[in-house]
Amino acid sequence: MSNKERSQSDRFTVPDWLFEFHGHKCPYSVMGYRMGVVALRELGRDKCYDHDMFVFSEMGVGHPQGCMQDGIQASTSATFGKGQMHKLFYGKVGATFFDPSKGAVRILFKNEFMDKLSTHEFFNFRKQGIEPSQVPAEVAHGVIDMVLNATDEELFKVERVPDFKFKPIPSSFNKAKCDLCGEYVFERYLRLKDGKKVCIACSEREAEESTIHLPDLQMRRGSSREN
Ligand SMILES: [Zn+2]
Ligand SMILES: [Zn+2]
Repeated sequence: MSNKERSQSDRFTVPDWLFEFHGHKCPYSVMGYRMGVVALRELGRDKCYDHDMFVFSEMGVGHPQGCMQDGIQASTSATFGKGQMHKLFYGKVGATFFDPSKGAVRILFKNEFMDKLSTHEFFNFRKQGIEPSQVPAEVAHGVIDMVLNATDEELFKVERVPDFKFKPIPSSFNKAKCDLCGEYVFERYLRLKDGKKVCIACSEREAEESTIHLPDLQMRRGSSREN
């Protein structure tokens, strides 16, 4: 349903299993869910049943807005587990959604709404170190309602990313046993040590994660449009 079809009393809803999956009730999981819905609509596609859509979350570590990513996974099924979601560690509440046949769209949680949301008392509890599941239910529901009652336009800046390029790593079932520990290793992760094929742990090397080549989102600018 587009926003034009929504009446004033109409509001977004999320399934209860979102919170079952995520573990607690919080605004950023709901915001991520909505972000995923907007992305699917902008790309004109259904959710990611298999491996045909990629999400590049701009989340970093050490800030609580990462809950957004569980919401995105819930609404798009582009999951970490299937290898469809990657993190860029930019520390921004945004993500780029890429379908190789339909292009890419970047969606950012708007500064203005983040400012508005952060004045809710939910965040007073959070800043005191109180975890979301321990925040009084009426407070959590209140801040979630702010996200549910907003329009897509209030929540998100949406921009197409016309020159977006990402080449997914081809899947392989090839594996071999590590010559030292005997455990199976998928071949991309085998390393050579003293002429032996070994796992990364046995190679005593850092796990240099060089297999995922993340796109550089800072490359492109100028195609913005406020949504
Ligand atoms: Zn959360
Ligand atoms: Zn080993």
